[in-house]
Amino acid sequence: MTAHPDIAEVVVVGGGIEGCAAAWALTRRGVTDVTVVERDTVGSGGTGKSSGVVRCHYGVSSLAAMATRSLDVLENAEDVLGVDVGFRRTGYVVGVGEQDVAALHASLADQRAVGVRTESVGRAEVAALWPTADLEPFAAFAWEERGGYGDAHRTAQGFAGAARRAGARLRQGTTVAAIRVTGGRVTGVELADGSHIATGHVVLAAGPWSVPLLADHGIDLPITVHREQIVLVDPGQPLGPVPVFSDLVSLQYIRPEGDGGLLFGNSDLSVLDPADPDRYRNRADDSFLETAVDKIGTRLPGLANPAVSATYAGCYDVTPDFNPVVSGSGIDGLVVAAGFSGHGFKISPAVGTLVADLVVDGTSSDPDIRTEDLRLSRFGDGDLLTSPHPYVGAGQMR
Ligand SMILES: Cc1cc2nc3c(=O)[nH]c(=O)nc-3n(C[C@H](O)[C@H](O)[C@H](O)COP(=O)(O)OP(=O)(O)OC[C@H]3O[C@@H](n4cnc5c(N)ncnc54)[C@H](O)[C@@H]3O)c2cc1C
Repeated sequence: MTAHPDIAEVVVVGGGIEGCAAAWALTRRGVTDVTVVERDTVGSGGTGKSSGVVRCHYGVSSLAAMATRSLDVLENAEDVLGVDVGFRRTGYVVGVGEQDVAALHASLADQRAVGVRTESVGRAEVAALWPTADLEPFAAFAWEERGGYGDAHRTAQGFAGAARRAGARLRQGTTVAAIRVTGGRVTGVELADGSHIATGHVVLAAGPWSVPLLADHGIDLPITVHREQIVLVDPGQPLGPVPVFSDLVSLQYIRPEGDGGLLFGNSDLSVLDPADPDRYRNRADDSFLETAVDKIGTRLPGLANPAVSATYAGCYDVTPDFNPVVSGSGIDGLVVAAGFSGHGFKISPAVGTLVADLVVDGTSSDPDIRTEDLRLSRFGDGDLLTSPHPYVGAGQMR
């Protein structure tokens, strides 16, 4: 390891959860001469707004495998990262309507094939978990006992801390202005203050801000930014230990929040809300709130006196197939990890591991996590990464 601030074996651009996970995983592979460059503070981008829902329910097998491998880290964070990162194992239930029953069962079989612990459950079992819910419109449910929710900001800090203890450096308040490439190979990064860091490897994990840094080199990273609104509710009564509930009939998700509250998020991604990630409205619009209150009341009619306690918004960095890019770039030494499309928290430990594999070996070390699935070139090839078992209306992130 060198102590020189202007040279590193690997520079990670972006101190969000993916960049910090990459730095941590690189140190686990013995690459400790790593500098993470973050323009603001760790977790100040999309990571700080994450709902933190953790489930392995993905129709795309590589993603289901990434989620289940990641659980091993989230559940054992005190041992693996040395700190409690706030993961709460509440269990995760997903309910679908009649039109999605076959897709649900096919997806569960594929998930189990890559190691996900998930099972089909009946209405009575879900009613025991969520007694205030109206479950009539659902035709089938699945249950993951290892599911729950976490704290993305604390988890990013956990990765950053573990990486630093292993020798990585973190430079907050430092902006990368450009990636230097000579003869088709990365040679360094230029910083906004005019200085530079010489390196042979860059991991670009700057969320939606990754796009211009690649465009400088003629590489198209097809990411659009979508604002997502969140509603926090005081249920007006003690609910007990309810699990995370993914309601694919009303297209919403519900999870416990803080001390007795509930957090509601939207799962209807049929109409996107384009936004500028540096300047967006950080609270719910009246029309969104009206729809959300209606959906909440419809699903939880058993709540005696619920009240909206707060709202906020964050931004998703969305690719054309709603799945991330974790990939080489066509430039030697440049790996991209961006475009997590609103579901990058739950897979972040596995993203870090895949990035480290790509930097060290050029390919995934896990046969269930296919390098080609998350490649950047799939967009140009017209070979989008879509679920073989899509749910009607629920978009591609399941
Ligand atoms: C409202 C909301 C709810 C969500 N809910 C869930 C959920 O329930 N479950 C789930 O799994 N996922 C969820 N997600 C998604 C998840 O939070 C994100 O996919 C993940 O946090 C993205 O992390 P990232 O590191 O790629 O990006 P970011 O957190 O955006 O990090 C990128 C970092 O790069 C830095 N940066 C930018 N440009 C530069 C530069 N030039 N130089 C240096 N640094 C730079 C930024 O400051 C930023 O800190 C949610 C996201 C949102 C917004």
